Amino acid sequence: MLYDVHAHLETPEFEKDRDEVLSRCSVVVVNAGVDLKSNLAALELASMYWNVLPAVGFHPEFVAEKMNELEDSLSLVSKVTVISEVGLDYFWVKEPESRKAQREVFSKFLELGERQGKPLVIHVRGGMNEALDLLGSHEVRFALHAFEGNARDALRAVDLGGFISFPPVLVRDRNRQEVLKKLPLSSVLTETDSPFLGPTRSVRNEPCNVALTLQKISSLVGSKLEDVEEVVSKNTLSLIPQLKELRPR
Ligand SMILES: [Zn+2]
Repeated sequence: MLYDVHAHLETPEFEKDRDEVLSRCSVVVVNAGVDLKSNLAALELASMYWNVLPAVGFHPEFVAEKMNELEDSLSLVSKVTVISEVGLDYFWVKEPESRKAQREVFSKFLELGERQGKPLVIHVRGGMNEALDLLGSHEVRFALHAFEGNARDALRAVDLGGFISFPPVLVRDRNRQEVLKKLPLSSVLTETDSPFLGPTRSVRNEPCNVALTLQKISSLVGSKLEDVEEVVSKNTLSLIPQLKELRPR
């Protein structure tokens, strides 16, 4: 089984061929919401496809414009087993007030994750120190999705018990390749962030491309593909045990 721990299949990019995309290979997908509408769409997708696990969250980019959707998004957390997409984004958001609001929103989801025992799949773009500080002060299981920082930060997250997730862009991204080589394989996960971050620039990404990430990891670390697959599966299921229970219906 392939595991895509972070994707956005509710997006218009998949309107025409979602059925096909989800049946092209043996893959299970954690579909992350970024606002209220996509949170609800993630729940709906999961009711339609056995191999989709819904996650709800609130993307840090939306803290200014969509704050009125926060409470409803928070209350949807009780309906799912994974919290995503949440985190900090200092790359697009520069104003100190908005960054502060991002930390407050992220803290609310961290508290829910801690209280309800739910893992978080987290977006961090800029603001890595603040994100790791917040993670360090909560008892949560987590993964940093589409990790784009340096190896030192990745290892700090691993020290906190976190996983580092790699999308298929790994095949053409030297920085991510260098980071990957410095991590223990026991902390590595695969995702696609579909429709983004694919193996080919400007081509729609999709969940089955996880296979390309696994191949690349195998060649980078010099281990057999099936061994890499086995370790990554084990990692994924320790973060999100509910994936084990998904069955065709
Ligand atoms: Zn995402």
